Amino acid sequence: MRIGAHVDSADPLSEATTRQAEAVQFFLSDPQGWKAPEKREDADLLRAAEVDLYVHAPYVINVATLNNRIRIPSRKLLLGHATAAGQIGAKGLIVHGGHVNAGDDLAVGFDNWRKTFAYAADSGGFAVPVLIENTAGGDNACARRLDALARLWDAVGEYEVGFCLDTCHAHAGGEELLDLVDRVKAITGRIDLVHANNSKDAFGSGRDRHDNLGGGTIDPELVVAVIRAADAPVIVETPGGADGQGADIAFLRERIGAGSVAA
Ligand SMILES: [Zn+2]
Repeated sequence: MRIGAHVDSADPLSEATTRQAEAVQFFLSDPQGWKAPEKREDADLLRAAEVDLYVHAPYVINVATLNNRIRIPSRKLLLGHATAAGQIGAKGLIVHGGHVNAGDDLAVGFDNWRKTFAYAADSGGFAVPVLIENTAGGDNACARRLDALARLWDAVGEYEVGFCLDTCHAHAGGEELLDLVDRVKAITGRIDLVHANNSKDAFGSGRDRHDNLGGGTIDPELVVAVIRAADAPVIVETPGGADGQGADIAFLRERIGAGSVAA
């Protein structure tokens, strides 16, 4: 089981080394901006790396919304990120489930997700697997609670769609971590990546503030149990830079019993 961290995008391979990470996730552009990713000078190096790479799509992307001026550029930006992720040999592109605005019909949001995959298929398909991630907040989210996730999967089921399970988002979003993996897999049939994070906020708070695994409001053993059950690669998106994340990775490796990079 590969364990790694979300790191700064400037030099992800050395960030991996300092954390003893077997996988890294990073952004290819400003996560709060609409700019398409630029071609990376280190693409060959990244493609050849032993470390598994994951790309996180910008937070501004919301392919579910009924607002054309957000949805259309979101689709394009997502497709562009998948292409750029393919150029560096990434294993997957993680994107948040998105939401519709208050008063809008969530069913249209799910159908907008289907249209996003149809749009990509018309352009030859996404260059890497797209992993939809569960989110923590909002009343009109496509992937906060599992009832919504089931409707989302009904909409996109004809396409190859992956899933990324974030433990902080599930807890803050109001889904118990106990047996969560079984309940998710009953819907999606798969978990491709776990974002192993503790939460600074209470169960069901709807707030998205990650904490280190030993801190926060989640029993770290529950996070370990989720990872064991998911049997998927793990990325910590926790604070504290190389020290904080390195400690979280070491904790998980000890509890899960996976080998280390240097071994
Ligand atoms: Zn996450």
